[in-house]
Amino acid sequence: MLLSSRTPRTAALLAAGASVALLAAGAPQSATPLGIGDRLFPHLGNPGYDVRSYDIAFTYGGDNSKPLAAVTKIDAQATDRLERVNLDFSHGTVSSVEVNGEPARFATSQEDLVVTPARPVLPGLPLHITVRHTSNPMPGKQDVGWLRTKDGLAMANQADAAHRVFPSNDHPSDKAYFTFRVTAPKNLQAVANGLPVATTRSGPTTSWVYRTAHPMATELAQVSIGRSAVLHQKGPHGLPVRDVVPAKDTKALQPWLARTPGQIAWMEGKVGPYPFENYGLLIAEANTGFELETQTLSLFERDVFTRPEYPKWYVESIMVHELAHQWFGDSVSPRTWSDLWLNEGHATWYEALYTEEKAHAPMEKRMRNAYTASDGWRAAGGPPAAPKGPKDGEKISIFRPVVYDGSALVLYALRQDIGKEAFERLERRWVSTHRDSTATTADFVTLASQVAGRDLSGFFQAWLYGEKTPPMPGHPDWKSKPEQKQGAR
Ligand SMILES: [Zn+2]
Repeated sequence: MLLSSRTPRTAALLAAGASVALLAAGAPQSATPLGIGDRLFPHLGNPGYDVRSYDIAFTYGGDNSKPLAAVTKIDAQATDRLERVNLDFSHGTVSSVEVNGEPARFATSQEDLVVTPARPVLPGLPLHITVRHTSNPMPGKQDVGWLRTKDGLAMANQADAAHRVFPSNDHPSDKAYFTFRVTAPKNLQAVANGLPVATTRSGPTTSWVYRTAHPMATELAQVSIGRSAVLHQKGPHGLPVRDVVPAKDTKALQPWLARTPGQIAWMEGKVGPYPFENYGLLIAEANTGFELETQTLSLFERDVFTRPEYPKWYVESIMVHELAHQWFGDSVSPRTWSDLWLNEGHATWYEALYTEEKAHAPMEKRMRNAYTASDGWRAAGGPPAAPKGPKDGEKISIFRPVVYDGSALVLYALRQDIGKEAFERLERRWVSTHRDSTATTADFVTLASQVAGRDLSGFFQAWLYGEKTPPMPGHPDWKSKPEQKQGAR
């Protein structure tokens, strides 16, 4: 994610969450919301099973004020004996649940759907869950889940909003394959992560099926429905590049879309092969205040590309930020939300490196500025790998400067310490070793120490967990000021 901070967010964020209480009202006392104990989002995710795949069908009537009809099928494996199976879900009405082909009882408790199967589920055995439900794009303002665009819907689920859209094990530690089936009025176009499997026209509607070729975190799901054009081009070594844009803006956006293949080639030159089956931009008519690295199909606000005041290098740096996330955050996803600095620090790093190489804006200058602000960022947001929790009603407030430039600064310090050659080897090995998986801060420290040939745990302890910013290797004159106003990025 990259916050653009152009849109006032606070009012909308405070208005979110009202429907949770409604869902919880009918819950029997025995239905308890569970989580896997994420320090920042304790109720996200659920214990006792591992999801292999989701198959999610949405029927959209063409009206953003009405809930979509939906069926979510979850193919999982139980890891414990389960008398109840908790799923994360809010913002929809559940009409039925089946577990392994038999009807199951269900209740809602806070943001969990608590399912009681007819018989307990045993560890090691398959767990098939079918939930018939609605998916309501209305109550969520900007927190967000379904994002209401001018001509339809898109998704923005980071960090904890996928379960506003579909029942899930909504934590990036449980990645799974996804199939999306979307039925919409025939004048609209639906697109989702991954590659198209089938398109069927039937009277006034069209149905599309898309499937991911790689596992994906729930927070990175994307389904776009709108008056869109789907444009195809080729990336490096034949990689399919598919862009989804408002049909009326195709011509105006074309020069920007044409930049993507070169950006992919540049990233591949830095860290190795692009990790997925395709890539492209989803350009939506919505004012979100952020751009988002939804897997294989990054979400951008249309205004990023049409505002004359944005310099070309700036727009390209935003594109590269979301592209870099496909490696850092998507293919290698955080095991916990406290590992967020690995996503945003790296995306910011390549954003800054691209700008240095293409627009002659020195990395050193940007990092010196970040160093000056760093103590203030740490005071406001916590240290990079132990960020403060979200503010009440502002869940995405974990996206603070300390995880952006404040964490790119940690990577800069590391490069200063171990040298450019070792740093570049580490980056390549990181994305290849943990490809299609999840990884922790401790994994990064271990790999960095291996590549450098010495124990870097003391270095990282100070840089990732310290209240104060350690001295910058090679720049003993750099100073950090404790009281800095929080910047926009
Ligand atoms: Zn980001």
